[in-house]
Amino acid sequence: MTEEQETADEIGQLIDTAVKKAFEDVTHELESARPDVFGLSMSGLGRCRRAAAYALARTEPSDPDLALSGERRTANLGTAIHRMLLPALARVLGGRHEVPVLLADGSVLGIPGTLDLWWEKKRAVVDVKTVGEHKLDRVVVRGETYEHRMQVGGYALAQGADWVVWLYLDRSTGKTARVVERFDAGFRREVWQRVWEIQRLAEAPEYAPRDERGPGLSFQCDGCAWLRRCWGRTARSGESGAQAHIAHDEPAVEAALAKYDEYRDVESRAKKWKAFWREVATGGGRRPGNYGAWKFHFTKPGYALDEKATRKDYENRGEEPPMKESAGRLIVRPITK
Ligand code: SF4
Repeated sequence: MTEEQETADEIGQLIDTAVKKAFEDVTHELESARPDVFGLSMSGLGRCRRAAAYALARTEPSDPDLALSGERRTANLGTAIHRMLLPALARVLGGRHEVPVLLADGSVLGIPGTLDLWWEKKRAVVDVKTVGEHKLDRVVVRGETYEHRMQVGGYALAQGADWVVWLYLDRSTGKTARVVERFDAGFRREVWQRVWEIQRLAEAPEYAPRDERGPGLSFQCDGCAWLRRCWGRTARSGESGAQAHIAHDEPAVEAALAKYDEYRDVESRAKKWKAFWREVATGGGRRPGNYGAWKFHFTKPGYALDEKATRKDYENRGEEPPMKESAGRLIVRPITK
């Protein structure tokens, strides 16, 4: 490496560190500006029920820093896009943007939130969600997620809306997909039932269901202010392992092994069916293109390491290819009598 390259690398590393720190500062600034960081807000209504119960019960966070720190690049980019797009959209539609609301009635504690856009003329709540390309495709096929449904349903309930609109925007291309639904009695009931469920669970949050898979396996857990209260003192954000606390006796481990086997089976069958339907749809030299509501194409061929040729090459030179230690494979089998 030349001196010039070394200097360029050093400058590059300073830039990388600065970008990381800048995103962390943005997170801290945005989160600290929220009036009640650890209370239940509308965005938490459809997420993990235990986290919602902790928040509603005002349980003291075991890991408050996790909720205030981190780079959170996609979330922060989403906020920047909101700030740019919402005022313009409000002007075009004729509405108000970033409207504070409070969901409350005589029996329910107030749940605050800030809805993206209130389209007065149509009495519609419009919520903008920024996503990656694949999530946009998912929305087109499957509609909004449960989490978004409850969040925007909560705004609509508090605001007395007739319509809800989820407007999904691909962060990289600006492409949008929207889901529109009348906010009818059935939808209102669905949101109230969720609110009442969280309210009941908040009476004993430690017994509320964990809806996430724990540190290292869930972004939500990795940023949860109650991480160690939920998964034990040894839980660390970004590292799996604390999940083992759930199975503290033999029957619990037995049940976990049975669950592992069940999901292994599901995974294996899903892979085979995926391969089958791939062949049905795209095999036999079928031309890429549009087919009803779907389309397909192949990306350009790429290059991957030819392991066989690499081994042979080392062998011909009388050398051993570099090796690294790998973890042993997990084998789970039923005990036969
Ligand atoms: S750590 Fe995970 S499972 Fe536990 S309350 Fe938080 S989000 Fe839910």
